[in-house]
Amino acid sequence: MDRESFNTYVLAWAKRIGVAHKVKEIHLRPMKRKIASCSTKGRLTFDPSILSKDMKELDYIVVHELMHLRYPNHGKLFKAVLSSYLNSRVV
Ligand SMILES: [Zn+2]
Repeated sequence: MDRESFNTYVLAWAKRIGVAHKVKEIHLRPMKRKIASCSTKGRLTFDPSILSKDMKELDYIVVHELMHLRYPNHGKLFKAVLSSYLNSRVV
């Protein structure tokens, strides 16, 4: 996936999750300790290595970060809603 399609893809998920209005910036830049992060101000950062992952992994990473715009932690609700989105993907 190239960078432009990646942006479109992230925004499509953001709309679906209902957080599109909260996404301010999407960055792709090398990260040291993790592959993705999300700030409370709506700045999403992803390591460029994710562009070569398969869709299933990519969905997991991207939806996980976007979900943090709704839930700040990894509580029960976070996990339940995350898996319901991932399982409902129409391939
Ligand atoms: Zn997380």
